Amino acid sequence: MTSSVTTTVPASVLDAADPLSHFRARFLEPKNGEVRAYLDGNSLGRPLAVTAGQLKDFVDTQWGERLIRSWDDSWMQEPVSLGDRLAHVVLGSAPGQTIVADSTSVMLYKLLRAAMGGRPGRSEIVLDRENFPTDRFIVEGIAAELGATIQWIQPQSIGGVGPEDLKDVVCSRTAVVLLSHVAYRSGFLADAAAITELVHEAGALVLWDLCHSAGAVPIQLDAWDVDLAVGCTYKYLNGGPGAPAFGYVSADLQQQLQQPIWGWMGAHEPFGMSRDYRPADDVRRFLTGTPAILAMQPLKHMIELIAEAGMEAVRDKSVLLTERAIALTDELLLPLGVEMASPRDPSARGSHVTIDHPCFREVVATLWQRGVIPDFRPPHGLRIGLSPLSTSFTELQVGIEAIRDCLKEIV
Ligand SMILES: *Cc1c(COP(=O)(O)O)cnc(C)c1O
Repeated sequence: MTSSVTTTVPASVLDAADPLSHFRARFLEPKNGEVRAYLDGNSLGRPLAVTAGQLKDFVDTQWGERLIRSWDDSWMQEPVSLGDRLAHVVLGSAPGQTIVADSTSVMLYKLLRAAMGGRPGRSEIVLDRENFPTDRFIVEGIAAELGATIQWIQPQSIGGVGPEDLKDVVCSRTAVVLLSHVAYRSGFLADAAAITELVHEAGALVLWDLCHSAGAVPIQLDAWDVDLAVGCTYKYLNGGPGAPAFGYVSADLQQQLQQPIWGWMGAHEPFGMSRDYRPADDVRRFLTGTPAILAMQPLKHMIELIAEAGMEAVRDKSVLLTERAIALTDELLLPLGVEMASPRDPSARGSHVTIDHPCFREVVATLWQRGVIPDFRPPHGLRIGLSPLSTSFTELQVGIEAIRDCLKEIV
C-alpha cells in the first residue's frame, strides 16, 4: 500500500485513480476560489452543494406551509429516525438504539451519569489524560457531583490507549470507561472491540466517543458489543456548525439506565402532560427537550452520500490519504525539523495526521491567510485532517508544500 502513495507518483495520478474522486463535486465550491487546500474537515466538514437549497425548501415547506403540523408529520420521529439511518450507514448498529440530540458534551454527561447509576456500588470512572478537554471536564464534573474517583490513564503508545494500558486499571470498582475511538490530537485509532471485551470482563460499562471516527472509520457497535457511544455530526458527517450530537445506548441496557436530565421529550407520553415523570420505554428516554430539527437537516444528505460511497471505500481512501500525507511529510518536512506525532501503522490511525514543530502556531496563522487550512493544537501540533469524500490528493500536495514553504520563511 505504501508504495502506491510514495511521493514519486504525482498527486494528479492518484486523483485520476481514485474511485471516489467524483464525490468531491458534491460539496459546495467556495465562490471566490480563495481556499487552496481545506485540511480541517475533521473539525468542521464542508457543506454539501445541496445544503443551501435543501434548507430553503425546508423553510418554505415543512416549516412555512405545514407549520406546527410538521411535528406530527415527521419531526417528532426525527431524533430516532435519523439516528436509525446513521446507525445503519455509519455505526454498524441495529435500529432503536441511537438518537440525534443535544451537543456531544451534554450527551456525554447524560450517558455517563446514566452509566454510573447502572453500576451501583462501583465508584470509579476510567479515562485518559490525552482525551479531549470536554470529555475530561465532563468526567471531572460528574466525579465532583457524585463523589466518584477518576482513574487516569497516561497512554504509553503514540497518543492512544491500548488494552495493555487498561489491564491493571479496570477492576471491580470500575463503573464506566470513557475513551475516544480516534484520539483528537494524534489520530490514534483504538482497538474498540478488544477494549470493550476487557472492560466487560471486569463487569464495567464502556462509553466510546466517536467524534473523530464517525464517517471516516468503519464502526461496528453491535458486533463489538458496545454499551454506550456518543459523537458529533459536524466533523466527518458534515452536519454544519453546532449540528446536534448522536447518542447510542445498546438495546439490552436501555431499561436499566436512567439519564439525569428529565424532560418532556424523554417522557413516556410527551403530550400526555402528566403530573409525574415516567421515562419512555425505548431509546427516546434519553431525549430531554425539543429536538433541533432545523440543525439536523444537512446531516441527512451526508449520511446518504456516505451510503452511496460505502464505508469500506471511504476507509480505503482515508488510509491512502493519510499514507500519502506521511510520505510527503517524511520527504518535505522532516528535514526541516518537523516530527511525526501520529501512528505510522495505518491500522492504528484514523483520518488525520498530526505533526509537531515549535513554530506551528505561527505557521498555521500564516497558512490560513494564504487559503491553506489545517489547524493548530497546542503545544505545537499541526493537524492535517483528511475527509475522504471531499479531500483530493492534489489538495493535500498543495497543503504540505505550503507548510514547507511557510516553515522555510519563518525558521
Ligand atoms: C469535537 C469533539 C467534541 C465536541 O463536543 P461538543 O459538545 O460538540 O462541543 C467532544 N469530544 C471529542 C473527542 C471531540 O473530538
